[in-house]
Amino acid sequence: GFRCGIVGLPNVGKSTLFNALTETAAAQAANYPFCTIEPNVGQVAVPDPRLDTIAKIGGSAKIIETQLGFVDIAGLVRGASKGEGLGNQFLANIREVDAIVHVLRCFEDGDVTHVEGKVDPIADAETVETELMLSDLESLEKRVPAAQKKATQGDKEAKVAASVLGQALDLLREGKPARLTVPKDEDEARVFAQAQLLTSKPVLYVCNVDEAAAADGNELSARVAVKAAAEGAKSVVVSAAIEAEIATMAPADRVEFLSDLGLTETGLARVIRAGYDLLHLLTFFTVGPKEARAWTIERGSKAPQAAGAIHTDFERGFIRAETMAYDDYVALGGEAAARDAGKLRSEGKEYVVADGDILLFRFNV
Ligand code: GDP
Repeated sequence: GFRCGIVGLPNVGKSTLFNALTETAAAQAANYPFCTIEPNVGQVAVPDPRLDTIAKIGGSAKIIETQLGFVDIAGLVRGASKGEGLGNQFLANIREVDAIVHVLRCFEDGDVTHVEGKVDPIADAETVETELMLSDLESLEKRVPAAQKKATQGDKEAKVAASVLGQALDLLREGKPARLTVPKDEDEARVFAQAQLLTSKPVLYVCNVDEAAAADGNELSARVAVKAAAEGAKSVVVSAAIEAEIATMAPADRVEFLSDLGLTETGLARVIRAGYDLLHLLTFFTVGPKEARAWTIERGSKAPQAAGAIHTDFERGFIRAETMAYDDYVALGGEAAARDAGKLRSEGKEYVVADGDILLFRFNV
């Protein structure tokens, strides 16, 4: 599955956030027989109001949300790229995730020590980013010359690597993240993705604020929002302490607690959705009397890959997919009406699945 890695300096609220995410997931664990993997990895349900609508129309007995993985990556300190603290392990863990959720301390609390001595989320973000950039820089300063040498010997793949990774190296030398690299063609895009540079991963800043600022943020989170916008990144405001409290409540109590704080949904819901958006994923649905269910695939995936998200046998024996757009399904009021209106299409192997499609697979076993 797809995974977001939670990173940040010590004492910013990473574990609090991670525990809130996984406690909420634990409360829903009945739906997920294979939910716990490792202690620092949690599978979390992605909230999607469309699923409730589909279940209502389809008369489904239950709903099953799609999931997103979160990994608590502890251990980043200044000097991590030089192996300080748990530096190397930390960087290896980041390499394995698809996106980075960067938690920034935007709350004041004299009882909670700040490793850098003062609360400054912009400086903190730069400390973490610098470690990641140094790590990429070090790795590319070995890889690029090696690729250049092979390229002069006529190695085509090395020529592609020398070009695209050379561009990334130039950016890093200017103090910019590798994600600003623009691959010239599909080959370069592939080699760049395979390089798994830490600073090429998409980033979401999570501003951890105190209770009073949970609804609207504060001056510190506003500064982070400006920084995020300038980088083409995203930011969300959350109070990890409140989320931890909410996670332990009964669902009925949550709604009241949230509305007292001026909130309509949990901060976790916003983090999960924003994390999902980072990954260039889309959601398709299946619906039947037993359950309405959401599934995740990468944008651009074709119908057989969507079938494969459900079961590998579905992909192998794929024949076609009966397809309805979510809007048609809702506007017409269900599958039978969609069929009568000619909105239930039969799509083949080359069909590129659209977000919100409701699919029924035909396959050979
Ligand atoms: P980590 O080192 O980044 O994983 O940070 P933790 O989640 O362990 O949090 C460090 C300390 O900050 C703990 O004592 C938390 O209770 C506290 N903390 C976390 N979030 C908040 C918050 O939103 N407000 C306040 N006041 N304290 C928080």
